[in-house]
Amino acid sequence: MKKRFALLTGLLLVCFSLPLGMTACGEKHTHVLEWRRSETEHWLECTDPACGLKSDFGEHTGGVCKDCAEFRTLSFGFTGGADVDTAHADFAQEANEWFSAKGAELGFTYDFMGNDYSALNDETLTEYDLVLFLNDRPHVKEQQDAFRRFMENGGAWIGFHAAAFSMVDEADKDKENSDYWRWYQDDFLGCGNYKNNTWNPTAEPLTVETHDHPATADLPDVFISAPCEWYGWESDLFQNPDITVLLTLNPTQENPAGDNPHKDWEIWYDGHYPIAWTNNHYRMLYTNMGHNLQSYNDFEKQSKTFSSEEQCTFLLGAMFGLTAK
Ligand SMILES: [Zn+2]
Ligand SMILES: [Zn+2]
Ligand SMILES: [Zn+2]
Repeated sequence: MKKRFALLTGLLLVCFSLPLGMTACGEKHTHVLEWRRSETEHWLECTDPACGLKSDFGEHTGGVCKDCAEFRTLSFGFTGGADVDTAHADFAQEANEWFSAKGAELGFTYDFMGNDYSALNDETLTEYDLVLFLNDRPHVKEQQDAFRRFMENGGAWIGFHAAAFSMVDEADKDKENSDYWRWYQDDFLGCGNYKNNTWNPTAEPLTVETHDHPATADLPDVFISAPCEWYGWESDLFQNPDITVLLTLNPTQENPAGDNPHKDWEIWYDGHYPIAWTNNHYRMLYTNMGHNLQSYNDFEKQSKTFSSEEQCTFLLGAMFGLTAK
């Protein structure tokens, strides 16, 4: 931030120091400055092509650095280890590769912390615009509170799949050391506890409920998802005035969701399920995506979440839209 300000001040001084009528600024021209990048350099440039105002070049390695990034992403989740769902870890591994590559290409930074949530503190969060929870969330109150302050101060967040997962009995929700994060589940996400799921993970047609959001603006009315385990929730998100549902899953007898031959209750034949939504009071988006199809016997990869072009459009639209100032 400091560096950016120094550059801007430098530019203004250049303008003001030139005699009137001879400046590149023009008399009534207000510069709109934007970062421009090459592989090795970054600079600020006026977006008016007739203006020609440019700052000195600054150096960086790779496609983007923290100074010239469109936005800076801090990401959490597990990519392996004991006691974790390997299909969820598989998604996080895939996500890390995809977000890093897209960041270098499109101009954002991506820092992955694994499931070390110590970076969720006020000081570190000032360095970031967007936080991602890949199938997990902080479980320590201090870190939860820092995240809440970040969101209440206009920070952006996208949560994936099990990042919303919670199964706590009503009687235990408010007990000391309860894992029920009431603000997060009830107010912020609005979904409450997890209720049910489909199995096996299947690719499904998803309906765009509104195109009036940066995540869905460029999507067709219906698109086919990548394979995923679909979740149902305890609370009715459609009835929540804070929530705008963006994507839904609408299974039918002819096209059910899930295909488990052994457990019929894990196949959905009807219903209207919220799959992605936003809370209108925050720069946030939750999406059900984040469970790859794989064999639990030999962990052989069988699907990729980022294989659906429309889903990728959806995510990038969300990332750029939520961080837009
Ligand atoms: Zn200008
Ligand atoms: Zn740079
Ligand atoms: Zn899952």
